[in-house]
Amino acid sequence: MFLEPAFIHKLWGGDKLKNEFGYNIINDDKVGECWGVSAHPHGKSVVKNGILKGMDLGTLWDKHPEIFGYPKEDRFPLLVKLIDAKQDLSIQVHPDDEYAKANEEGSLGKCECWYVLQCDKNATIYLGHNASTKEQMQEMIKNCEWDKFLKEVPIKEGDFIQIEPGTLHSIKKGTVLLEIQQNSDITYRVYDFDRKINGKARKLHIKQCMDVLNVPSKDPEDFIIHAADLPDNQVNCLYSCRYYTIYKIEVRDRMTLATDAPYLIMSVITGFGKINGYDVKQGDHMIIPNGVNELELEGNFDVITTRI
Ligand code: ZN
Repeated sequence: MFLEPAFIHKLWGGDKLKNEFGYNIINDDKVGECWGVSAHPHGKSVVKNGILKGMDLGTLWDKHPEIFGYPKEDRFPLLVKLIDAKQDLSIQVHPDDEYAKANEEGSLGKCECWYVLQCDKNATIYLGHNASTKEQMQEMIKNCEWDKFLKEVPIKEGDFIQIEPGTLHSIKKGTVLLEIQQNSDITYRVYDFDRKINGKARKLHIKQCMDVLNVPSKDPEDFIIHAADLPDNQVNCLYSCRYYTIYKIEVRDRMTLATDAPYLIMSVITGFGKINGYDVKQGDHMIIPNGVNELELEGNFDVITTRI
């Protein structure tokens, strides 16, 4: 089941999703995000083929639970997006389920992970911070000691990064990545580089940041996996947590994939080929419905596959 993404305009967005991933984006040269698999009210993806063509993923989840193996969750649990950062994103943190439920009208929290598709040579991200106590953190934020406070770590193409709720993070300009996250759109900004849009700064959320930030932060190196070049025609598990399990598959010529997942989410990140006879190419996002337990993959492409 192929999905048509929703495209999200962002102050920091660029034109790579249109020009390099071939998405049909009209009249917007600052598209920051492509929500390829989303049932979130802020941008829903829509079924592109078959008898359910035209139905959005949220409705599909409610009306056709059989496609997902009769799930217990009250909403589609994940959101898969591509991010094109032409400018730096704000320094931010996301809440966990408990905090979001209590403070954000029943929203889910946001655990997320990234697979880096493109970045500059010597690129970095911000991940974690250097404060060892809450008081120290408060001081550093109040005094805008960002160089001292923020932890900067190198990344390269093919890196996978897990970002637990409560972890300070930010993507820097020039980076394109695939993000898999809980179905949530709650972001708390601690710093936005004093940027202004039409003379106005975006809102910061210092109180919420103080509430949810982990202190001290965990070692960022423990959450980065180098996954640029993995064994071909094999299901390579990148990470597994309570919200998702992420695999990277590098298809070269042909392979068979057996699955016992209730359903699978697939995003083709490079190349093209066929899955069970359907043409697939870079930028395609799809759901493999319940009951399809064997997949024939042919061609030359890399696909990030997610299961709950
Ligand atoms: Zn984030």
